Amino acid sequence: MLIGALEAGGTKMVCSIGTPKGGVLQRASFRTLTPDETIPQMLDFFRNFEISALGIGSFGPLDLNPKSKTYGTITSSPKKAWRDFPILETMRHELHVPVEIDTDVNAAALAEYVVGAGKTYKSLVYVTVGTGVGGGIILNGDIVHGLVHPEVGHMLLTPSEMDTMPGGMCPFHDHCLEGLASGPAIEKRWGLSPALMMENHPAWDLEADYLAQMCVNLIMTVSPEIIVLGGGVMQQQHLFPKIRKHVFRMLGGYVASARLDEEHLDSYIVPPALGNNSGVTGALLLGAKAVATRK
Ligand code: ADP
Ligand code: ZN
Repeated sequence: MLIGALEAGGTKMVCSIGTPKGGVLQRASFRTLTPDETIPQMLDFFRNFEISALGIGSFGPLDLNPKSKTYGTITSSPKKAWRDFPILETMRHELHVPVEIDTDVNAAALAEYVVGAGKTYKSLVYVTVGTGVGGGIILNGDIVHGLVHPEVGHMLLTPSEMDTMPGGMCPFHDHCLEGLASGPAIEKRWGLSPALMMENHPAWDLEADYLAQMCVNLIMTVSPEIIVLGGGVMQQQHLFPKIRKHVFRMLGGYVASARLDEEHLDSYIVPPALGNNSGVTGALLLGAKAVATRK
């Protein structure tokens, strides 16, 4: 059985064909122009294959309430041409297959949960630290949607006294995680792209402090069995030990789990096991779910 996967991003649309277990067989990428321009290109690609379902991991925000009239539309996206665009309904109508949709980060979280770093656990949080910061939460196999969907990237943090940009740069919130710790926030604060910074740059200890605050907040609220950190900024591998050190200190020994002992944190806060493939794998798994539920 073949499954189609669409990773819908603000700059490109990555279309793949793969197996229900997440193996990728074919891939094509199209620039995200307007729906009128980009949708036909994606449909042409998918129509070359006999797919049984399509899974979509999309930039958002999305309407993910199955009872809503606008379920599966991109809602208030800054990409104007895509605002209110019914991406799920369009693909389902044109391809005549069941379609399942979720946010890009929820798809990645699902992949890490099912076949990646979290495959032996019942709960997981996946956070990507890149142009934005976003997180997906999975509990007992279910992606947490709740009222809308979690906005892990906009949790409020305590700014460091050392921070020259303590308010952050989010247009909506003062000192939220994304505003303080995204790639563009690092670049704005220090006037240098994080990809070019040396390991001993002071930016990294501040970044580790903020990402550790995030981990601690997640530990205290969600109590996940594993936290997976991905995205461009986390390519800086040295951030992991720095974050774990701060997490251990900030927890203050309060939470009673051996997994949070200093020597065990390296298997608790981890990089994605699937590397850059968590998005596509997650979209394939969503497609497989659509087959099972005939959505
Ligand atoms: P996106 O979030 O747009 O999907 P990425 O996850 O690659 O894409 O994140 C892009 C951000 O990550 C940019 O702000 C970039 O400066 C930063 N980044 C990319 N590579 C690195 C790196 N090796 N080290 C630190 N930061 C990086
Ligand atoms: Zn914010």
